[in-house]
Amino acid sequence: MKPLSLHCIACGKGKLITVDSRPCHGGIRRRKECTRCGYRVTTIEKVVGEIRQRRKRVREVA
Ligand SMILES: [Zn+2]
Repeated sequence: MKPLSLHCIACGKGKLITVDSRPCHGGIRRRKECTRCGYRVTTIEKVVGEIRQRRKRVREVA
């Protein structure tokens, strides 16, 4: 997955970087902070659709 890099809503010049992420209610809660002004925002990512993953054969290595 590509990491999201958002511009700060408050100052418009800094970048919001993820400082904390934890699972919450079937989603992921991320705390982001501006590198310039320190503005903080919390986002919640949720899975809205399921993607079936291809099964990979795992070979046991002795
Ligand atoms: Zn900012």
